[in-house]
Amino acid sequence: MNTQDYIRREDQFGAHNYHPLPVVLDRGEGVYVWDVEGKRYYDFLSAYSAVNQGHCHPKIVDAMIEQSRRLTLTSRAFYNSKLGEFEKYITSYFGYDKVLPMNSGAEGDETALKLCRKWAYEKKGIPENEAKIIVCEGNFHGRTITIISMSTDPDSYKGFGPYTPGFITIPYNDTEALAGALEDPNVAGFLVEPIQGEAGVYVPDEGFLSKAYALCKEKNVLFIADEVQTGLARTGKLLACDHEGVRPDILILGKALSGGVYPVSAVLADDEIMLTIRPGEHGSTYGGNPVAASVAMAALEVIREERLAERADQLGEQFRNELKKIDSPMIETVRGKGLLNAIVIKPTRGRTAWDVCVDLKENGLLAKPTHEHIIRFAPPLVITGEQLMECAGIIRRTILSYT
Ligand code: PLP
Repeated sequence: MNTQDYIRREDQFGAHNYHPLPVVLDRGEGVYVWDVEGKRYYDFLSAYSAVNQGHCHPKIVDAMIEQSRRLTLTSRAFYNSKLGEFEKYITSYFGYDKVLPMNSGAEGDETALKLCRKWAYEKKGIPENEAKIIVCEGNFHGRTITIISMSTDPDSYKGFGPYTPGFITIPYNDTEALAGALEDPNVAGFLVEPIQGEAGVYVPDEGFLSKAYALCKEKNVLFIADEVQTGLARTGKLLACDHEGVRPDILILGKALSGGVYPVSAVLADDEIMLTIRPGEHGSTYGGNPVAASVAMAALEVIREERLAERADQLGEQFRNELKKIDSPMIETVRGKGLLNAIVIKPTRGRTAWDVCVDLKENGLLAKPTHEHIIRFAPPLVITGEQLMECAGIIRRTILSYT
């Protein structure tokens, strides 16, 4: 079978809920992936930042294989010998009293919303069914009905109503709007991405997160950080909130919590919040299974052992500097933090961000447009300085070929 055969097969038998670049991947190692024709690429998407530790990291894969041979799934009807070890490990890693393990990022967000509402009724004293949660325009938290009810992107929500009520939407990066919305006494939480990833890597003004946190505290409102994409070293710190010394009341993690080998997400909070959910009120058959627990511990160890946050911080700076040197009217903006970066493209000679990504692919680098005019660059954090400069060269050559 060649590339076209694989693509045709997916088109015929799979739902058309994605529009992939025309490349069929077959193998991955570190920063590289290979297609079915044997061509090698730099991966500058990293599965939307799930593969921060690099493809098929041997330590994480070994943890999965070892645990898979022993015990894979018990459900939470019984205790298992790995879950407690993971819970102790991750709570001390991030400094929270408790963790609630789930699978996907969207489930992590759903868990946080439920926790926030429960806390609102039991602790804050908001009347039953009246709790509100503030969210931001341009947010992306996943694809469930409740999550798309918070979305301002018609592609996400249109045609899927009726929607879940209880959300107030404010512009991103707007502390005045936040202060106004917080005047409502029924507000229980503020859910925010420290950098909006899917929206196109929007980095808020310095001070936004710390100011927003302080405003929430004044009103006894929970600050809920969705660090599914920004967390785990991607932006140059363990958490993107660390850039401003903010400790979220509820922290949502996913994606790189497994280094891309298995779906693992987690919600962290202290007892006052977490213990409002009691047996039978929330859960998931796979959440906290022994394989997920082993994989997540290995993935977190790799982040520390390989100093991925420090790497992302230093390399990100170099990378942005290289991109800013590209002298082309096609690049409107270069922005980002650590190794979560994007360029905003002005279509030139009929070439859109999609066309640029197709040409980058031809030149050996895989990236994906987000919206029509933005290309995100998020390589695995194990990339070396030399490899990164080679990639900046590929991007430069591709962009300059249109002018
Ligand atoms: N939250 C954020 C900030 C994300 O970027 C994503 C996915 O891109 C999600 C949640 C949803 O994660 P998942 O696709 O694992 O459900």
